[in-house]
Amino acid sequence: MESISSPAGDVLPEDEPAGGPTFLDRLFDHGLLVRTGVDGLYGRSGGFESVVDALDRIITRLGAAEGAEVLRFPPAMSRSAFERSGYLKGFPNLAGTVHSFCGDARGHAEILACLEAGTDWTGQQEATDVVLTPAACYPVYPVAAARGALPAAGRLFDLQSYCFRREPSLEPTRMQLFRMREYVRMGSPEQVLAFRESWLERGTAMMRDLGLPLAIDAANDPFFGRAGRMLANNQRAQGLKFELNVPVNSVDKPTACLSFNYHQDHFGSTWDLHQADGAVAHTACVGFGLERITLALLRHHGLDLAAWPEAVRAELWG
Ligand code: ATP
Ligand code: ZN
Ligand code: MG
Repeated sequence: MESISSPAGDVLPEDEPAGGPTFLDRLFDHGLLVRTGVDGLYGRSGGFESVVDALDRIITRLGAAEGAEVLRFPPAMSRSAFERSGYLKGFPNLAGTVHSFCGDARGHAEILACLEAGTDWTGQQEATDVVLTPAACYPVYPVAAARGALPAAGRLFDLQSYCFRREPSLEPTRMQLFRMREYVRMGSPEQVLAFRESWLERGTAMMRDLGLPLAIDAANDPFFGRAGRMLANNQRAQGLKFELNVPVNSVDKPTACLSFNYHQDHFGSTWDLHQADGAVAHTACVGFGLERITLALLRHHGLDLAAWPEAVRAELWG
């Protein structure tokens, strides 16, 4: 995959004057995002959601010809599947677990006493068999593997989920809970690489048609710790991850709005998922950050949806 750079990739309108309201402040002021008191956890207005819905429809249309199997999961998954997935090896710092009170009446009284005293009440919360989904595709691999070997044509899934990552930030594009739409391809290396290549093209065309400046860049996941540095370098060197970046918060550090990931046989061997001929399955996924694309549109076309360029409005709402 050649790196595509659009000449418009350096453009960022309405650069924020030092000391003035940030993009996040302006989103709050316009009611597009709603404060909850937690960084990276926001309510959204009807207007914001109308863009998210339109993007969801466009992504469906772009994938319609391949007849992907639609599956939707709640934004949480089984803890044992999560443990087996390997997520904790790479990203222990981002994981979110669901804990619950398992005590008796006396324990309940202690919680209430702690609340009253303003001290820590969470001592009796115990880990449950539920964790928060970190990426839309995580729940699908065990489901696919449970069906047995892949058919000769492989499989293609269409997923969407709220995802949790413990990365609180004042950048509106880095949320703790956000929606990710994904297509996931499982099959031979040739099948999954062809899938990724075609989505690099489709995703680029989609974002250009929405009037956004963009660049496709090699990328890596933020693997934790010192050993993680090596994994990240390796991922980059092998061209396993590409991102479609749009300047949103700054020109220097553009924001990944789509990502195109080739996992090689990582999930295939983790989940014992095989191709029709018995070889370990390869997988790839393309992920669309629905809030991030919406925020990129708001940054470039302005906070008044009615004033967006006619061509962009037509693309979104026909
Ligand atoms: P980044 O490098 O910015 O952290 P990422 O590499 O972690 O992004 P992926 O893991 O590839 O992102 O997730 C797929 C898509 O989900 C991203 O392209 C992005 O659009 C979206 N996304 C990822 N993290 C967040 C977040 N914290 N808030 C909102 N959207 C996100
Ligand atoms: Zn994925
Ligand atoms: Mg990240």
